[in-house]
Amino acid sequence: MDDKKIIELINKAKDIATKNCCCKYSNFTVGASLLTSDGIIYTGFNVENDGIESICAERTAMCKALTEGEKDFVAIAIVAKKLNDTHFTKVLPCGYCRQFLSEYTNSNFLIYTYDEKTKKVYSYKLKDLLPETFRFEES
Ligand SMILES: [Zn+2]
Repeated sequence: MDDKKIIELINKAKDIATKNCCCKYSNFTVGASLLTSDGIIYTGFNVENDGIESICAERTAMCKALTEGEKDFVAIAIVAKKLNDTHFTKVLPCGYCRQFLSEYTNSNFLIYTYDEKTKKVYSYKLKDLLPETFRFEES
C-alpha cells in the first residue's frame, strides 16, 4: 500500500478518535479507519457503556462496513490516546478484535498504527498477530 494512502488512513483514525468520543470509563479514545478493496474508508471509535462489553474502534468500523454490504477489506489503521494527552500512540487490536477481524478479512489484511511523538508508522499482517483462529469447523 502506498504511503499516501496509509497517512490518509491514519489521519482519518485520528479524526474520528477526537470526535464524539464515547470513552467515559477509560478516557482512552481509540480511532480506526478501515479500507475496502474499492477504496472506501469506514471509521469508528471505541464505544463504552455500563454493561459488560464495550465495543472497540476496530469492530465499530468493521460493523459499519459490513452493514453497508462491504465484503472485501485491505487494511485498518488504529490510533489511540488518553483524552488529555496531546499525542496519539501506537496501539494494536485486542484479542477479541483480532479474532473478529480475522473472520471478515483474508490472510493479507494489514494493520497500521502510529506513534505521533516519533512519527513512526508500524505495520503488521493480521495473520502474524493471530496465527491460529477459532472456527466452527470440525477437523
Ligand atoms: Zn478490541
